[in-house]
Amino acid sequence: MNIGINIGYLVAAALFIFGLKGLSHPRTAVRGNLLGATGMLLAVVLTLLDRQIISFEWILVGLVIGAGFGVILAVKVQMTQMPQLVALFNGFGGGASALVAGAALIEAALLTTAPSTQMTVSTAASGLIGAVTFWGSLIAFGKLQGIISSKPAKIPAHQLLNGILLLASLGLGALIVLDPSATWVYWILVAVASALGVLMVMPIGGADMPVVISLLNSFSGLAAAATGFVLLNNVLIISGSLVGASGLILTNLMCKAMNRSLGNVLFGGVGGTIAAADDVYAGKIKSTSPDEVAMLLEGARRVVIVPGYGMAVAQAQYAVRDLTNLLESRGTEVEFGIHPVAGRMPGHMNVLLAEANIPYDKLKTMEEINPTFEQTDVVIVLGANDTVNPAAREADSGPLAGMPILDVDKARTVVVIKRSLSPGFAGVPNPLFAADNTLMLFGDGKQMVTEIIAALKEA
Ligand code: NDP
Repeated sequence: MNIGINIGYLVAAALFIFGLKGLSHPRTAVRGNLLGATGMLLAVVLTLLDRQIISFEWILVGLVIGAGFGVILAVKVQMTQMPQLVALFNGFGGGASALVAGAALIEAALLTTAPSTQMTVSTAASGLIGAVTFWGSLIAFGKLQGIISSKPAKIPAHQLLNGILLLASLGLGALIVLDPSATWVYWILVAVASALGVLMVMPIGGADMPVVISLLNSFSGLAAAATGFVLLNNVLIISGSLVGASGLILTNLMCKAMNRSLGNVLFGGVGGTIAAADDVYAGKIKSTSPDEVAMLLEGARRVVIVPGYGMAVAQAQYAVRDLTNLLESRGTEVEFGIHPVAGRMPGHMNVLLAEANIPYDKLKTMEEINPTFEQTDVVIVLGANDTVNPAAREADSGPLAGMPILDVDKARTVVVIKRSLSPGFAGVPNPLFAADNTLMLFGDGKQMVTEIIAALKEA
């Protein structure tokens, strides 16, 4: 391979790495995205120059159709639909890897060149991982989009079934290595791995989909890296490995922040006993009104806003920005406490608050904000539940056991805005709602914040 092309690939790989570095902070994320995209453009152009392309017409048709879909999706998709969009992207990545590896195998068979063992092993790996990623991601997309039920599907002996399908895929992979000219075996492998992808994701509940999507993202990278070995393309090997590794790191971070193992997410059953809601709440709930909250805020010197999934549902981020500006114009210090798994995807709250132009330096991590709650006059918990549940500290079993939480209960007064006493994603009652220093403001997040603003302005 031309040395110039390889140097170009190295530049592209460096751009990917700087891009990933940039993506690790909201302030540099846009630049990081741009660097990564530039690296990808460079890699694509160099590949088109390097490979003996027979006809550019079909590539152009693919480019126009793909870019067209990309632009429509980027413009149309809502922020809350991002997880399913990412699922689709992963799926297409995995599917493309499996198809390209299959095409390379057919090409070798047609040319009657005996492919190397490296190529056949990589082809089998790409077919297996790519097909699992494609179908697994489509199911994840369907669950999040509400096309199929987000409830965990009950499949009898599903782990045994998955084990059999995995073993069958590995056996078919071995057949491909032994006799690469029998290309039909590859497509049977793809079919079996597709069934494995579907059965792997169907029994997982919709709320766990973000973790699954992150894992499938990692798989799509591994499939691409395997295809890189099939085509002997260095930049595909590097970028695939980067995606594989970063997806795995993200999966691990999400599991840690939920205090669950990956096995628990994939194979279900969080177990443990959960306190009855009546025992936790009976006679202890104090509800409040927007006017009363406005009065509290008037006298507060420091306010911390803790958003959760409910803020995303209510699309309350713009109202929150207006409340923040109003309080600050009156001399109140306002900060945000962001739990690592607040919402339904990593960085969910950061993205929504950034969309409403809330400055990044106001968004504090759990480690930064926790020591400040004791000096905080009012905490507004907006649609957050599990991430502020003090039961997590004591529980030694159950879905929240050991999950680190935001210590909002240590503030002078806690105002919780949500529509009812219903539990969060983990399904555990929250003793915070019954605490002496907590007031419940029942209603839709956006509407309640808007009413608080109106009451503050009237005062
Ligand atoms: P929770 O899911 O614990 O609670 C959200 C709360 O929002 C609900 O109790 C609901 O109460 C309330 N709510 C819903 N709609 C509205 C609305 N329109 N207005 C006001 N409130 C509303 O959210 P958290 O963010 O605290 O916790 C996230 C959970 O998701 C954690 O358990 C985490 O482990 C899990 N998770 C997170 C992932 C991530 O990457 N971020 C990935 C996978 C899971 P009500 O119905 O009464 O209004």
